[in-house]
Parts: sequence; C-alpha cells; structure tokens
Amino acid sequence: MGTAAGTGARQRISRVNMAHHKVMNSPPIFARLLRFCGPAPRVAAVCAALLAVPLPLSQAQGVAPSRLPSLGDAGDISLVSERRIGDSIMREIYKDPDYLDDPVLGEQVQQIWLRLMAAARERGEMSAELEQRFAWEVSLIRDPSVNAFALPGGYLGVHLGLIATVANRHELASVLAHELTHVTQRHIARLMSRQSQQSPLLMGAMLLAILAASKSPTAGSAMISGGQALAIQTQLNFSRDMEREADRVGFGIMADAGFDTQGFVGMFEKLQIASRLNDRGNYPYLRSHPLTTERIADMQLRQPNLAQPRGVATDWDDVLTSARARALVQTNVDGMRRLSDSALDKDLSTYSPLRQAAVLYAAVLSDLRLKQTDAAVQKLNRLGPLVSQAAPVWWRGVQAETALHLGQAQSAIDLLQGQGKRSSRAEVMWLAQARLALGQPSDCALAVQEIEAWMLDRPRDILAATLLAQALQCQGKSLRAIRVQAQTRWLQHDLSGAQDRLRAAQALVLQKTRDGQMERADHIEASIIDANLREIDSLRREQLLQR
Ligand SMILES: [Zn+2]
Repeated sequence: MGTAAGTGARQRISRVNMAHHKVMNSPPIFARLLRFCGPAPRVAAVCAALLAVPLPLSQAQGVAPSRLPSLGDAGDISLVSERRIGDSIMREIYKDPDYLDDPVLGEQVQQIWLRLMAAARERGEMSAELEQRFAWEVSLIRDPSVNAFALPGGYLGVHLGLIATVANRHELASVLAHELTHVTQRHIARLMSRQSQQSPLLMGAMLLAILAASKSPTAGSAMISGGQALAIQTQLNFSRDMEREADRVGFGIMADAGFDTQGFVGMFEKLQIASRLNDRGNYPYLRSHPLTTERIADMQLRQPNLAQPRGVATDWDDVLTSARARALVQTNVDGMRRLSDSALDKDLSTYSPLRQAAVLYAAVLSDLRLKQTDAAVQKLNRLGPLVSQAAPVWWRGVQAETALHLGQAQSAIDLLQGQGKRSSRAEVMWLAQARLALGQPSDCALAVQEIEAWMLDRPRDILAATLLAQALQCQGKSLRAIRVQAQTRWLQHDLSGAQDRLRAAQALVLQKTRDGQMERADHIEASIIDANLREIDSLRREQLLQR
C-alpha cells in the first residue's frame, strides 16, 4: 500500500485523530460523527454519505474487540463489514473526476490482475469465502505519482503514474502482487481493528474524512488526487511484518502466475534511484515502502539466477501501455504539448522502433486531446509503419480512436465491427460510441444488441451500462433507459441515486398512462421498475436497522 503525506497532511491526520478520540468518548455516535465531520460542506457531504454504511449492531454500539488481532488474524471485522466500508469509499471514488475507466489501460491491468488472482487461489492464499465476499476490483486513478493502494473490501487503486513508469508488465505485476497480498492476508482488517477498536464504521468515516479534509476546497482538485489516497494510508501504515509478508507472499504469487520475478527487482531499482534523487514527492510508494537494505537483499536472494542479473524483455504491449498512461495522466495543456512535441525530436529516428512507437502513440493521443487534428493524423501516419504489423490490435485501436475524435464515426465502425467475440472491451465501447454518434434509431438498436451481448458475461460493467442507457434513450426506449441508469447507480453503490432514477421512471409511467401512450412492453417494464424499487427500499431499510 502506498502511503505518504507531507507535514500538512500529517497535521491534518493528527487533528482527525484527536477529533476521533473525542467522538469516541460519548454517545450518541452518529450525532457526534456529524459534528466531527465538520462544518465544511464538502467534508460534511462526504461524511453524511458515509453514514449510510451499514454494520453489525454490536459494532455500531461501540463494543470493542476483546483482543488485539495478531498477524494472520483479521480481528473482529467480518468480511461483510469490511466489504461494506470498501463499497462506501468506492461510491465516492466513482464520482471523482480523477477516477478513470480507460478500457485500454484497464484491460492491460486486468489481465495481470486475473493471473495473480488465479495464482493466489491456486496457492491457497484466498479462501472461497474471501473470494466471494470481496470485490477484487482494480481502479485507475489519474494521478502522476508512482503509487498503488489497497482499500478495504478488496478494492485496489493504481495511479497512472505507476503504469507510466514501469518498464513492463512484470514490474507492474510485482506491485499488484504485493497489494493483492495485503488484501488476502487481511492486513487492512487487522489495521482497522487495531486503530479503531470501537467500530469499523468510524474507521471508514475517518478514512473518508481524511480524504475530504486533505482536499483543497479552492483548487477544485479531485478527492483522490495527490496526497489524499496517501493520507489514508499514512493513517493505516502497515507494520514492517505485514510489508515483509506482502513482499514474500507477493513474490511467490507473481512467480506462480508466470511473471518474471526480475520485475520485482526492476521495480526496486526504480524506487532506489528515486530515493537517491530524493524524489519522494513523485514516489509516494516509497514512503509507505521504504527500501530497507534488508528488503532489497531479501528480494535479490529470491532470484533464481543470482549470478546473472538480466533485463526483462519489454514488448509492444508494455511500451504502448506505458505510453498511453503517460498521455492520459496529463491534465494540463503544457504537459500535452510536451508529449506532442517530443514526436518532432530530430533524433527520434535513431531510437528503437518500440521507443519511436511509444513517443508517437503518446503524441497522437495528446494531439487528439488538444484537438490538433492535422498534427494527430500526421503522427498517426508515421506510427502506422511501426505498429500495423507488430501490434495490429493497438493499431486498429488508435485509428478508431482518432476517427471518433475527428467525428468520422462510420470509419470507426468499419474498423471495429465484425470482430465479434475477439473484440476487446475497448473495441466494444468504441463501437458503441461510434454507433451513438451516428445517432439513428437503427444504429442505436445495433449498439443495444452489442452491449447487451457484452454484458451477458459482465453484468457489473459500469461503463457498458452507461452506454446501454444512452443507446436505449436514443432508440426511444425511455423507461428502460431510466431503469438501466438506476442499475448503473446501484453498481456504484449509490442506492439513493438508484431510488431517484426508479421514481423518475414511475413518474414517467404515470404520465404515459395519462397520455394513453403505454404500450405492451411498457407495462412489463413498469412492473420490473416497481419490483426493483421495492428491492432497493427494503435494502435501505435493512441498512437503517443495522445502524
Ligand atoms: Zn505494502
């Protein structure tokens, strides 16, 4: 878990800590918690949202665990309550502008993640119950710092800065395997029961309060940007023993998953260089994971070919993934211009083809974001000869993305359709966007069909559900569109948002009935909407009772 915070953040944290203790002294907890959450509107909003976190009654009443957990013991925090805390934190993160669902990067990370999960399962690091209860979801955060962090309930965050910095998937896998181990070994639950003996609810509230408090109200910065995620982690610093365990078990998982364990060393070397340069601001991971000589020596000893240190092969997927992260992490025009201009470097042709392609790819993406379409097309034409044979999927993708940006939806469709089951997630999403851009009911009907086929196996895909709602709306199926919007909110753990949408759908049913416009399909839809709303109402009632 990456962790760090500057002095300011540290002061904030100790303030929160003091407030926390004050809160704990006298009931009623919730009234106190609201006050603790403070008068600043942002903070209050976040805390109020958190109050919706349900938890077992005994914990809500402030019954302290009878013993401190030891390593390998998650204390009194059940899988279910840890997951609920994670869900409530994710509800805020999904809304954050720095939360980024980029299907291309997401897929690359997911491929690594699934292999690590399979290896952890195989090694018996993950019980069936743990696997079933937790989310096992990796989110991308648009943040240039080199960091990754684990949240309660099996959620992981990966900063784009990390993806942009690693040389290959093996290095990325080493960090993910380490974080995965923090989750499978229930390190977070152990910390939570140690830190907040009264209630995991308060722990969750504290996490979110720290997130909110560390956010500058004037900068309009995102909740999870920069130091915030780090601030949480400073609050939750893992012990040395936990870190050792995460290194040791993570190393085994990574090796069993078929990654080159040299990646662990490669990552360490990067961090070591950064720490020599005193570049800790950009490497928050270093603060939570100080490179002790012991840690480095331990990892080097685990290398199978100790005598012959070697580099790990870097391939097209590796360099283009990092290049994409470098492009997408930019939020200001200067940064985008810098990437765009680096493709004009006269020495570029002396680089290896991989490196040339990486520079050009990042430049094309930056030009598109800068709306410099001519420049983007010129660079695309230089990129083609390098990647069209060597990395055909990336080539198709960047062409389709360019076409979409240029408003050439039909060209994008021509490139993407007909791939069928071989389509990547990115291709399915781009194809839907292109069909939506054409905007005829027949295009939208096709988009609905294709997204529904995709979602059959992936019912929790939030981006797909969002596009499905748009396609249904464009097709004139308003009632179903609103119901899918409600599902999207539900997937984001926003039950009240889902309720709102379903009530809006009921209002539309009333209006359609008054206007005599209800068709047969609408009646079926109306009864599903009623059933969904009843289900959510009872879920929320249940949560209220559990408080
Ligand atoms: Zn760690």
